[in-house]
Amino acid sequence: MSEVGGAQHSTLAERLASVQAGIADAARSHGRAPSEITTIVVTKFHPASLVRELAELGVRDVGENRHQEAQAKAAELADLPLRWHFVGQLQSKKAKQVRAYADVIHSIDRPALLGALASPERVVDCFLQVNLTDNPERGGVAPAALAELVDQALDTPGLRLLGLMAVAPLGEEPQRAFARVRELSESIRGAAPQATALSMGMSQDFAAAIAEGATHLRIGTAITGIRPQPE
Ligand SMILES: *Cc1c(COP(=O)(O)O)cnc(C)c1O
Repeated sequence: MSEVGGAQHSTLAERLASVQAGIADAARSHGRAPSEITTIVVTKFHPASLVRELAELGVRDVGENRHQEAQAKAAELADLPLRWHFVGQLQSKKAKQVRAYADVIHSIDRPALLGALASPERVVDCFLQVNLTDNPERGGVAPAALAELVDQALDTPGLRLLGLMAVAPLGEEPQRAFARVRELSESIRGAAPQATALSMGMSQDFAAAIAEGATHLRIGTAITGIRPQPE
């Protein structure tokens, strides 16, 4: 079957089952139902054939971080019942093209991007990405600018705000970082009562994210195996 093993000697099906079991355990140990958590398998740099294999194993949510690659895979796999999540940094000039195939965009972090995604057409679900580092080069809006971006997102036609997304920074205990995202989420509740979702938690830190209320996990290598080099 699969040779994509980074965790050698295990198959894609085994790694998927093992991560799913870990998610269910973490959820139950925090009094949460596993069914309230959506697992997005991040398939960046892997071929479309791996996404097809995942779909055969029952995966319905897949994530990509580069527009051209995502667009090509979504077109090639249009016969599959998949939801495409765009999780990477997004250029405003590519925004319209991304909204054509993406069901959910996780990485909105500035007003210009909201403007570029505004549309009278199909409503696309979205997250606002928060930058948990002090480095503005990292994707995400600074926490101090979040409230204003929330107001702008709520005023943008064609987008439905689901909640907040973040990546735990290096050098900070992930659970503390995720707790900050949860607090930020509570702070926007007045303006956006329905935007309660939290997209956080990756291969190494999903249990900590679940402890802090993650509703959408973005998991790559723990399921897919080590990524091939990008082209
Ligand atoms: C690649 C990626 C992931 C998955 O990372 P893993 O460590 O492989 O689980 C999650 N979120 C984003 C934004 C990514 O780019």
